[in-house]
Amino acid sequence: MRRRTFLGTLAASSVAATLPGESAEAQASAKAKPTKITLLGTGTPAPSLERQGSGYLIEVGDDVIVFDHGPGAHHRLLETGHRAVDVSQVFFTHLHYDHCMDYGRLVLQRWDQGADKIADLLVYGPPPMRRMTDLLFGEDGVYGPDIRARIEHRSSIDQFVARGGKAPRKRPAPRVREIHAGDVIEGSGWKVTVGRATHVEPYLECLAFRLDAPDGSLCYTGDSGASDDIVALAKGCDVLIHMNHYFSGTAPSPAYRAACGNHRDNALTAKRAGVKTLVLTHLLGQIDQARISDQIVHEIQQVFDGKVVWGEDKMQLTFAGPVIANIEGY
Ligand SMILES: [Zn+2]
Repeated sequence: MRRRTFLGTLAASSVAATLPGESAEAQASAKAKPTKITLLGTGTPAPSLERQGSGYLIEVGDDVIVFDHGPGAHHRLLETGHRAVDVSQVFFTHLHYDHCMDYGRLVLQRWDQGADKIADLLVYGPPPMRRMTDLLFGEDGVYGPDIRARIEHRSSIDQFVARGGKAPRKRPAPRVREIHAGDVIEGSGWKVTVGRATHVEPYLECLAFRLDAPDGSLCYTGDSGASDDIVALAKGCDVLIHMNHYFSGTAPSPAYRAACGNHRDNALTAKRAGVKTLVLTHLLGQIDQARISDQIVHEIQQVFDGKVVWGEDKMQLTFAGPVIANIEGY
């Protein structure tokens, strides 16, 4: 895997962003502990050992939030030193498998290791998020027999009690809220605004997220082509994490471009939205080669005068420097 070291600061903002009504305590805590964004998976549905399925970890205040959890994203989460039990909320942009395949792993490992001692996972995603959850973890679900065995077999009960649990053991019960563009989810010192992505509607409802934290703002497009909705959602953000699937001009059809965008579209989006830093992700092998990625970054910089970052799995970002990125090991 090509490794780069990113220098200097990312999106240095002279004035820290604040949320209306935010307490002095929340601001003080944000100062002490800056929001940290880790790219867990910057890949696509194409198999890759270097780039896992889509996933982003956001540590804000006391919350550990995941945006999307595609295949391999959970492995990356472990590599960051976190465990499923640390995750408090998960948000899904859409239910393409490369964005949600590790949902089962997150829920089951969190349930198993949590031993009924942690709060239920909060899950936000577009329909059929609830149906997917029921089909996976319900009594008649895919994991129904496994869950029953772990609740009822003596050996599993003993293990559960050894982990500090108190029998009878509860079933996994992720608290699902189905969300749509326009919704706002308030957290402790942060909020997520849900926007509309342009991707594979009407087959899947596709969303984008904007997170406003005490020390900055992040927009994650999920999978999306260019649109006024994305520009509006990302307006003035410190960091825009944008799908950058392929090289401009190589799309097999107009529909493909509309659903996935290209690097020249992304340059314009970043410029129109006035973001400080554009992080490119969801990168196909086609463009994941030094000379091509350099050309893409160069061409984007002809249009967009902010910072452009070629995303890598496990890269870490903060809203205000210094940024230590692309750490080899934890
Ligand atoms: Zn997709």
